[in-house]
Amino acid sequence: MTPEEILSHIRNVKDFPKKGILFKDITTALKDAQTYKAIIDNLYEQIKDMDIDYIAVIESRGYLIGAPLAYKKGAGLVIIRKPGKLPAEVIHEEYALEYGMDALEMHKDAIEKGKKVLIVDDLLATGGTIQAADKIIQRAGGKVSGYLFLIELTELSQELKFNAPIISLIKC
Ligand code: AMP
Repeated sequence: MTPEEILSHIRNVKDFPKKGILFKDITTALKDAQTYKAIIDNLYEQIKDMDIDYIAVIESRGYLIGAPLAYKKGAGLVIIRKPGKLPAEVIHEEYALEYGMDALEMHKDAIEKGKKVLIVDDLLATGGTIQAADKIIQRAGGKVSGYLFLIELTELSQELKFNAPIISLIKC
């Protein structure tokens, strides 16, 4: 299945969660067994030769993409969550979203110093989320090896500068 075919299974929802946002709803792609498999297999092809210790996944749609990739790659899975969900001591970072403010947290001891981390989320828009995740990994002592997305909204992401490669399967 090509990225274009995968894109055709992703539903566009107008004005969600706020007026002016065209929400990319991946539930329609995930519920189709062949499409979900194609998403994971295509993304895996992009990372299979990368030297990484951990895949860090962002709540909640990042989990759906990153967890099967960690399993396939044989990498550890590190969980980044919305505030107040993780039980042990956390690193906390606030950030601006395409539609508001939010914050992310990760356990302080989730990553050992110098470990190589690939950050995974479903979609890159303004980059606020991934920049917060990036800071969290660095504050923990990890080294970010790259960022992986199913979808990149290029109009919003084009000005972004990162210290590691951005890999996205679908650019739109
Ligand atoms: P950003 O921080 O602006 O790059 O936004 C990325 C995060 O917000 C991801 O976790 C996405 O799941 C979510 N998100 C932002 N914009 C959209 C959109 N247009 N459609 C679906 N999810 C979005």
